[in-house]
Parts: sequence; C-alpha cells; structure tokens
Amino acid sequence: MAGTTKGRQVVGSGAGGDQTIYLDQVAEEIVVQHLERAYRSGFRFRLISEELGERDFGGDPLVLVDPLDGSFNAKMGLPYYAVVLAATQGDRFQDVRLGYVQNLATGDEFHAVAGGGAFRDGQPLRPDPPPFDGTSIPLVQVDAPSGVDAREGAGPILARTEKTRQLGSAALNLCHAATGGIALQATPAPVRAFDLAGPLLILREAGGVATDFAGRPLESVSVRLDSRTTLLASLSPAIHAFALELLGARVS
Ligand SMILES: [Mg+2]
Repeated sequence: MAGTTKGRQVVGSGAGGDQTIYLDQVAEEIVVQHLERAYRSGFRFRLISEELGERDFGGDPLVLVDPLDGSFNAKMGLPYYAVVLAATQGDRFQDVRLGYVQNLATGDEFHAVAGGGAFRDGQPLRPDPPPFDGTSIPLVQVDAPSGVDAREGAGPILARTEKTRQLGSAALNLCHAATGGIALQATPAPVRAFDLAGPLLILREAGGVATDFAGRPLESVSVRLDSRTTLLASLSPAIHAFALELLGARVS
C-alpha cells in the first residue's frame, strides 16, 4: 500500500498529534493483534501507541509502539519507514529494556536488550566507528519537525560536514547511527521522545553516545507521547564531542 492513493488517505488524527493515514492505521492494527495474542499467552503490560494512545493490558511494564515511523516516506512510496517498539520498566529513557526497529520496506531488523548488546538481523552489531580526521564529519543526518528549518541551530556543525542527509525516519536514522553509516545524528529542534526510546537503546548498546543538543544526558527524559527533546547522537564519542565543541556546548 506504500505509495498508493488508498495508503495515504487521511483517516483521523492520532494520540501523538499527527494526522493518521490509512497506512498508520493498518500498521497499528497488525501490532495490536500481535499484542493481544501476547496478552492471551500471559504477558501483562500497558500499551502506548502513536495512534490509539494508551490501552491497559493488565500490567505495569510499558510497551511503546510507533507502528509506522517515516509515514511520509511510506505515503510517497520511498523505502525508508519502520515499525518501532520499546519495552520499558518506567517512563524514562533509562528504564528502556528492549528496543526493536524493522525497516518494513527492506526487512532490515535491529534490536537491543539493555546490558545484552545490539543486533542487526539477529547478529551481534559490532560496527567500526565512522571515519573521522578531527576536522570534518563525513555524514550528518539532520532532522527537525515539519515547518522548522533543520539548518537552524545546526549551522556550526553543517559548516564542518562533508555530506548532509534528511532521510525521514527518526528510528531508522538512529539505527544507522548505531552502524556508523550516519556519522552524526543532529536534531536541533525538539522532536517527540517517544519514537526514540527503542532506537536510542540500540545506539547505546552498539557503543554509541547520545545527549541533547546542549550536551545534557537523556537518561531522565520522559518517553511518553507528550515529551520532546533535541538530540545529538553518534557511534563515535570523538565525533559527538567534536559536534558539541562546534556548538560551543558545555558537557556538564
Ligand atoms: Mg508513526
């Protein structure tokens, strides 16, 4: 249905505040069916999903679901969109125990278990750091919410960047930051933290670092639907530190 008129039909607005298109709705229905099956086999949890909001499945752990991250790409038929899940013991980044992202167009799959490592297509992810000569960053993925100029705020970084991308799925972007393909993820304007919960665990478990744009840690940031944060993330601590230096940010 990606790239079709039916797929991009607007069917309502989601709990996350964005328009819901038919593709979002179908993706969420599929995820909810699987979670209902998990419930029947004894798993107890509380679901927070982008379109439907919260639903009680009889237990405390939170299951966070963005059934379709990169909806606009899916709508246009560009093969860069994903289903994103996170399981957490609480509502902060530090509480996330499991992260899962699958590129629905290619099947490429990433997951991580807190303290247990990151995986790509089931194999342990042991990426080489992206190349860095100390003076320029090879590839920066820059993001901003619709209507915000992504270059605003990221100017000092982009001035020292060889190539810039704006690919359209925050979750996949972090997974590719975890592989080192994206040397730096720069998100200068606040975006929804919810979508980042699982992918950030994947980046961390791969050995990467992430802070907000001012260099502050993200551990205590809420992962609920109403929470927003800026982001600066890289597999390479050297590239991350270089970016903060360019921004004149102070790591506390
Ligand atoms: Mg979505």
